[in-house]
Amino acid sequence: MPKAEKILEKFNLKKTNFRLELVELFQSSSSSLTADEIRQKINSTNDKVTIYRALTAFEKKCLIHRVPDKSNLIRYALCQKECNQTHHKHNHAHFICNICAKTFCIEDIKLPQINNTSGFKISKTQLTLEGSCPSCN
Ligand SMILES: [Zn+2]
Ligand SMILES: [Zn+2]
Ligand SMILES: [Zn+2]
Repeated sequence: MPKAEKILEKFNLKKTNFRLELVELFQSSSSSLTADEIRQKINSTNDKVTIYRALTAFEKKCLIHRVPDKSNLIRYALCQKECNQTHHKHNHAHFICNICAKTFCIEDIKLPQINNTSGFKISKTQLTLEGSCPSCN
């Protein structure tokens, strides 16, 4: 069984040619993808709704996660082993390249542990770094 098919099965996601192609696209992408980039790269469908629906399902099952984007577009990256199938568990920084505008997951930079302070309850901590990526340097 091809790897993408195994992944859809493991995450209990409906198997279609498009979804297989989508998993493969995420796996072969070194950074992250916006919905428009996905639409341009996918051959099996051009339908925005189908793409959004698959992305939403993938995110819910913790196969992909939203990452920050330079132009505030919705952008996704593949989750690492840290996420299980019921909830995301991220502890890594994201890097936005100011030249190519791609966003990368930086797994070896962990988020600092920040505690609640004077009545403010923290539910989410994010660390976004900016600069130039290895292929733009
Ligand atoms: Zn995740
Ligand atoms: Zn770059
Ligand atoms: Zn990430």
